[in-house]
Amino acid sequence: MVDDAGKRSFVLKGIGVSPGIVIGKAHLFDPFDARVSFYRLRDKELISEETKRFKAALKESEKQLLEVKNRLRELAGQEPLYIIDVHLLILKDKMFINHTVKYIKDLCINAEWAIKMTIDRYREIFDKVEDEYLKGRISDIRYVGQMITRNLAGGKDVVRDIAGKGIIIAADLSPADTAQMMINKVQGFATDMGGKTSHTAIVARAVEIPAVVGLESITKMVRTNDDIIIDGSAGLVVVNPDPEMIRVYDDKRRHFEIAQENFLKYARLPAVTKDNYRVDIGGNIEFIEEVPTAVSHGAEGIGLYRTEFIYINKGQLPTEEEHFSNYRSIVGVEGLNWATIRTFDLGGDKFYSDPKLAKEMNPQMGLRAIRFCLKEVDMFKVQLRAIARASAFGKTRIMFPMVSGIEEIREAKRIFFEVKDDLVARGIPVGDDIEIGVMIEVPSAVIIADELAKEVDFFSIGTNDLIQYALAIDRINERVTYLYEPLHPAVLRLIKRVIDVGHSAGVRVAMCGEMAGEPAYIMILLGLEIDELSMNPLAIPRVKKIIQESTLKESKALLEKVMTFSSAAVIREFVYNYMRERFPEEFQTNGT
Ligand code: PEP
Ligand code: MG
Repeated sequence: MVDDAGKRSFVLKGIGVSPGIVIGKAHLFDPFDARVSFYRLRDKELISEETKRFKAALKESEKQLLEVKNRLRELAGQEPLYIIDVHLLILKDKMFINHTVKYIKDLCINAEWAIKMTIDRYREIFDKVEDEYLKGRISDIRYVGQMITRNLAGGKDVVRDIAGKGIIIAADLSPADTAQMMINKVQGFATDMGGKTSHTAIVARAVEIPAVVGLESITKMVRTNDDIIIDGSAGLVVVNPDPEMIRVYDDKRRHFEIAQENFLKYARLPAVTKDNYRVDIGGNIEFIEEVPTAVSHGAEGIGLYRTEFIYINKGQLPTEEEHFSNYRSIVGVEGLNWATIRTFDLGGDKFYSDPKLAKEMNPQMGLRAIRFCLKEVDMFKVQLRAIARASAFGKTRIMFPMVSGIEEIREAKRIFFEVKDDLVARGIPVGDDIEIGVMIEVPSAVIIADELAKEVDFFSIGTNDLIQYALAIDRINERVTYLYEPLHPAVLRLIKRVIDVGHSAGVRVAMCGEMAGEPAYIMILLGLEIDELSMNPLAIPRVKKIIQESTLKESKALLEKVMTFSSAAVIREFVYNYMRERFPEEFQTNGT
């Protein structure tokens, strides 16, 4: 299709990582816009000049990063993003500096060239690492190298220099650049690289800028000043849209904004059905920076803090103080009635940063989560001690992941109480009402739920893993996603058993897998009488709306009918038809 100005219209599909729609002008962002030149120094006399130039650029980069950090703190009232701290650390890294200076001296080359050689050297080292996540961390070193290079070439920070609003198109963006975008009020961005869990995506969500990543070659297909639409919800980018397309997307954008506003109204009220059945609503977070969004979107507590994220990007294991300061940011915080801290779930598709651990890991069914903690008890105790100390400041729930047998929960509890008693003996305050819970995400845990119930105060169903283990479907393998079915009768029966067993033993039952945040499943979960749903904070308003407009009675009737079907496909069709009819506005606008 060709628009009025003769430019070809086309649509690119990527991964929507931060929802919302924006229409604007593209701005191609090349971190090497500064034009890197490579040359040999005319004579050795110039070496010390060149080294000074490099050090001055280091200082300038540090200043800029600190500025971003401070502006973020002022603007968002958030703790500065830890990723920026990582970049600050790289700037000060002795090996990075020494290698670059050595290249300048030994090869008599300019600083830009020396930086490039240092990055190449790091890349060689990282390429040898087997672990994909660690391999990807080269990007942080590259970002820092690019920043210094920009400063060597006159200090133009391209993102900062974008006048007014625009949509950034880039091969990849550093988290610091993304944070800078919030300060500059950039409208949205689209990149060649990246996935849902890349740091840049996480930052984009935290700063609420619509974004699509993983477009592979958008930088080759779009030019600065092209008209562009970013649909961060659908993961689409429309380039050179025709007037009709702009009209349609303008409508969608308005609709999205009104819907967000409307949903926020539901967010402030509790999730109580019309016949007075109340569900507690938690937010799932990976970073403490997400707490303000969780509160503003209606989270009443934190239902899942994925603490393994504390371990990423670290050269060494986090200290007790680091753990503690993270937990203090969610325990006893205004607006949050409880904080559920899940002990770290490293392994499987989760990342870890200590290369020593990498060799130990098997994917998914390996030495992950609680299994790993019970092997590395000292490391586990550091985290438990910090959780116990934080519990003195507010309602704390501790939760153990991937428990498959009774010994694991008993042993985890034993270690926790040992740590807690030791703190008490030393006069260090700890909370006296800490609740202990277990994630139900392995089928064996469902089968022995009655036994596990004797050990804990609450269950939290982790459907992401439970479904993958129950249906034998790798949750990250796109070739079998068609079989990943939360409405599979086997999955529904497993969930029903957990809730029924939990309730008859007087144990609260929460759900914190992705299923809990999917509006289409909410009435089924209500019918099962779930006590708490915890989800990605942005999903909360819609879920609350469905609960507030339903009744327990009709949910039970729906569930009863659904439980008579033997086919997942039939259940899916029935549930979606029901929900479409019951909430026409809700389900039509979302295309589900
Ligand atoms: C789950 O498995 O459902 C869960 C919430 O844990 P995670 O997604 O972190 O594995
Ligand atoms: Mg899990």
